[in-house]
Amino acid sequence: MLKQIDHIGIAVKNLEETIKLYKNIMGLELIEQEEVESQKVKVAKFDINGVHIEFLEPTAPDSPIAKFIEKKGEGLHHIAYMTDNINKELENLKSKGIKLINEESFDGASGVKVAFVHPKSSIVLTELVGKGE
Ligand code: ZN
Repeated sequence: MLKQIDHIGIAVKNLEETIKLYKNIMGLELIEQEEVESQKVKVAKFDINGVHIEFLEPTAPDSPIAKFIEKKGEGLHHIAYMTDNINKELENLKSKGIKLINEESFDGASGVKVAFVHPKSSIVLTELVGKGE
């Protein structure tokens, strides 16, 4: 079962400018900045009442985020939903014919499991987040 929105991922070209806009002008709380080398992105996370907005800037031309921006421009990249059991949810979606990018969940940030649903099946790239059992 999907329980709530965990975070929203937004692809941007310039993270510093984005931080200025969302922190200084919009007044959101910047809670974390990190570089995720495996995904070739820099991330700035904001919190709004428990939902995180994650801005993603590519650090290399072959980053998945660089390819996304090239094709579609800056903007909404994915929506992540908290599940009560990510493995059961993956099985459930698969049994209903939903195309998955990851049939098995893997370790994401902050000790949770994550997996992606293919945007061909979900319109917007969808990330599932949660515990395995
Ligand atoms: Zn995400």
